[in-house]
Formats: sequence, C-alpha cells, structure tokens
Amino acid sequence: MTAQDAASTTSDIRDVIIIGSGPAGYTAAVYTARAQLRPLVFEGSVTAGGALMTTTEVENYPGFRDGIDGPALMAEMRAQAERFGADLAPADIVSVDLTGPVKKVIDGAGTEHTARSVILATGSAHQQLGLPGEARLSGRGVSWCATCDGFFFRDQPVAVVGGGDTAIEEATFLTRFATKVFLVHRRKELRASKIMQARAFADPKLEIIWNAQVTAVNGDDRLSAVTLTDTLTRTSRELPVAGLFVAIGHVPRSTLVAGQVRLNENGYVLVDHPTTMTNLPGVFACGDVVDHRYRQAITAAGTGCAAALDAERYLAALG
Ligand code: FAD
Repeated sequence: MTAQDAASTTSDIRDVIIIGSGPAGYTAAVYTARAQLRPLVFEGSVTAGGALMTTTEVENYPGFRDGIDGPALMAEMRAQAERFGADLAPADIVSVDLTGPVKKVIDGAGTEHTARSVILATGSAHQQLGLPGEARLSGRGVSWCATCDGFFFRDQPVAVVGGGDTAIEEATFLTRFATKVFLVHRRKELRASKIMQARAFADPKLEIIWNAQVTAVNGDDRLSAVTLTDTLTRTSRELPVAGLFVAIGHVPRSTLVAGQVRLNENGYVLVDHPTTMTNLPGVFACGDVVDHRYRQAITAAGTGCAAALDAERYLAALG
C-alpha cells in the first residue's frame, strides 16, 4: 500500500505523530504531550512496548534500585505518556509520505493520518538463530545484550555466537563475570578486526570453538545447555552453559522510510548529530533505529526526549 492508496483519511492534522512504542517512542510521547502537542503514537500491533517486552529483569535503568521487569517498565512509560494526554494506537504504520510539509502515514487498516512532524522510533530487531525454544528462553538464559544481562551470569559458563566485532566485544566483556566464555563461530576465522581478535586470543577465560553452529537451545525454565554441530563433520555435542549471547547482528526497522529518509549503508537512519533531525524537515528519529553503537533503553529514552524537543522547536518555528 502506498500513501496514495489510503481507504480513509482523518480530518485532523496533528502536530506530532510518533511511530514506535519502545523507550524512545514513549519518552518522545511524554515530552510532546507535556508540551501540549497532542501526540498520536502508533505502538505497533504485535510488539507494543518494544524490545524490553521480551526480557525479564532490567537492572540498569536508573531510578529502579532493585531492578524492574521489562514489561513492567514499559507499562509505566506507557501510563506516563497516557497521563499527559498522548493518544496511543495499537496499530502498525504500513506506508508513509514524509516529504511535504504535511506528513502522511497510513495504518494497517488503511486509514491515513496527517501531522506537521513525525518522530521515527521504530527500533531495531536482533537477528535470531531461528531455533525452537529461542523465544521461550529469551530472558531466561538466551540474551542479545551482554551489557544488559552479563551481570546475571556471575560465576557461570556462557557462550557467545558470532564472529564479528560485536561478538568479540560481548565475549570479552562477559569474561568479567563468567567462569568461562565460549565463542562459537561457524568458520575457521573471525570477521572481527585484528585488534579485537588479538584481544580475544589473549584472554585466558575465552575459548573459541571454530567451525561450529548452535543447533539447539536446551532447558525447561532456563537455558542449561546448547547443542553444537560441527560444520565440517556434522557431528553434534552438548555444551552446558547458563547463558547464550546471540551476537549475529541487528536489523534497523527502517524499510518503512527507505527512499525518503536518508539511511546509512546498514539501514540505520542518519541524523544530524547531536540533533535528531533527518534529511527531511519535520522528520526526527531516535532510539535504536538510529543507534547502532549503544543500544540501551536509557540511551533510546534520551534520544526520544531530544526528538520531542527538536519537534517542539521545529513546530514553534513554523508558527
Ligand atoms: P524498541 O524498544 O525496539 O521499540 C520499537 C517499537 O516500535 C516496537 O514496539 C515496534 O513494534 C514498534 N514499531 C516498529 N515499526 C513500527 C511500525 N511500522 N508501526 C508501528 N510501530 C512500529 N537495554 C537496557 O538498557 N537494559 C536491559 O536490561 C536491556 N535488556 C534487553 C533485553 C533484550 C532481550 C533485548 C532485545 C534488548 C534489551 N535492551 C536492554 C535493549 C533495549 O531494549 C533497546 O535498546 C531499546 O528497547 C530500544 O528502544 P527503541 O524505543 O529504540 O526501540
């Protein structure tokens, strides 16, 4: 569906439409709502609340000294946005026309919504291994973020899957906590930079398992082991680990705006740092759809705040 094919159109031209409902989108909603800009937030039809809905404990979001469950944190952010008058729609945006002064977005039901500014907060999806049990054990041993979850694996063995810089970074970081870190890589050489490789080879706690793929994640309530299959001999064995960190890449959710908003070579939205302005006037972007470096809830929330303030200034200048 293109922005020309809307089945119906709402008459109201909003000040701000926010696409996405993770920490970035809800923070932008809190700020724009408190600025009396009546934001309309498209939360997504399936994963309202964003990436933290798939995890259990979040221990590094400031303000919660005992930690907080991911879904509980997102429910608080959602309620805070609602309290100040943000309109929340549990719908996907399936097409956009962001080029003109009045931005058009079409939801999954075919209704067109218009606004003078749009904040993109669609996040990024981590690449999954695609194994049965992976989703069930997410937050229960299977993780995509060593910074977030490494601490939970003190004095236990863990494995990291991947061969790029991120995988090595995750693996070396995890050696601070884990008794042993196995880096599982399907080839005989790493894609990571030489300096990262040297760091990995020198680390006594880190063991690289070459030519191996994780072909099963095992455990009832929590991960207890992974099955490794040798890519050359096809023989399999169990490796007992308490944690599995999947570091095989992230995909920014930017296809919706590709061709209109400028993206980098990996599909992340380009902004004019330190602002959240994209190449299109009135279109701002925040959170993990921009950020391929930090990918934390607090940094997503921080840039969500910046996007709201940038949109506010843009609208004020329009008069
Ligand atoms: P997201 O949280 O990904 O939210 C984006 C939202 O946009 C989603 O709800 C999605 O459905 C919606 N959306 C996308 N496209 C559309 C569309 N077309 N229409 C409508 N809606 C759309 N960080 C920490 O700081 N601490 C942690 O402990 C921690 N643990 C994590 C555990 C897991 C398992 C994962 C996956 C991540 C974790 N992170 C953690 C990272 C953190 O969750 C992310 O950095 C953060 O959620 C990014 O926020 P965001 O708002 O940019 O995007």
